[in-house]
Amino acid sequence: MSLSFKRTYKFAIKSASYITLFGVGFVGILSHYIFHPNQDHLTVFLIVFAFSLYIFSFLVIQYRVEVFIYRRVKKIYDDVSFLEASTLISQPITTDMATLTREVKKFATDKKMEIETLKIREEYRREFLGNVSHELKTPLFTVQGYILTLLDGAMNDKTLRKKYLQRAEKGVERLVYIVQDLDMISKLEMGDLNLSFDKFNIVQVTQSVFDLLEMKSERKNIILSFDNKYSKPIMVCGDREKIQQVLTNLIVNAIKYGRENGFVEVGFDILTNGKVIVRVKDNGEGIEKQHIPRLFERFYRVDKSGARTEGGSGLGLSIVKHIIEAHNGKIHVQSQINVGSEFSFTLEKAE
Ligand code: ADP
Repeated sequence: MSLSFKRTYKFAIKSASYITLFGVGFVGILSHYIFHPNQDHLTVFLIVFAFSLYIFSFLVIQYRVEVFIYRRVKKIYDDVSFLEASTLISQPITTDMATLTREVKKFATDKKMEIETLKIREEYRREFLGNVSHELKTPLFTVQGYILTLLDGAMNDKTLRKKYLQRAEKGVERLVYIVQDLDMISKLEMGDLNLSFDKFNIVQVTQSVFDLLEMKSERKNIILSFDNKYSKPIMVCGDREKIQQVLTNLIVNAIKYGRENGFVEVGFDILTNGKVIVRVKDNGEGIEKQHIPRLFERFYRVDKSGARTEGGSGLGLSIVKHIIEAHNGKIHVQSQINVGSEFSFTLEKAE
């Protein structure tokens, strides 16, 4: 490693001055009393002596200090470069203590920040793993339970066999949903979304989501409709498939947490700033105020009890938020317990 010094001479200058002062004083007084010299000769002698002593002590001190500090500083640099202190080793080694202190301080602060980030990431990873295994456990044990019961003899009973296989199939279906959501959230969180922007009619996309969810809504006798008649297309700019996923998640939630014989209404407003607001409204169970700020967190659920009859992976709304934010849009919730909820998001209007 080629090393260059940043020199500071202050220390050597001061030390050489003290030595010269003392040396000249001492020699001057001594010569005065012992040799009784001529005053002019003594002055010339002292000037020459002072000059030589000053230069000599300055050079010796500067050299010795540099060697001394250099060795120790180099050791510090070597130690921190062992920790891959790229910021430090890329700079010349210094014997200037102020700079060194600043550099080491900066190095320590950078390392501290790096450690904090790693800690947060580790915490996130641990929490994520815990949540994933918790989500997978319930359906997995359900499927395992039915299969074991079938193997233990229930498969000989024709009606039980069908019933248990159907239940096991439901569990597998739920596992598939969870894995699909996990796959989506990990892609979203890695910024791996690969949006393909297009112009499309949001009214038409909503209608196809209604068609896909018709059976689901009929089971609870919930009517899916528009709040108005949208005879003209409303063209927006975005990734059609991802926006369809957003609408699906919101409408599925509106059905899941909606009341029997209720309704889900979708509406659109065209704003003057070139945006379109899409609103998904239901008259279901609603959400208490204290839960609203955390609703879009991964795995966050209002009803955490096992008594939950409805519910997916707890990732639906965080997926929605990620997709909308990747479109530079905003998502908003208004809800009143036992009255209903309205989720709305913005999209860019296409000409
Ligand atoms: P989940 O898979 O549990 O539905 P989501 O992320 O989609 O997860 O939703 C998070 C929570 O938000 C749900 O558990 C539910 O309590 C609440 N929630 C979402 N949408 C609605 C809604 N339309 N009405 C009432 N509560 C809702």
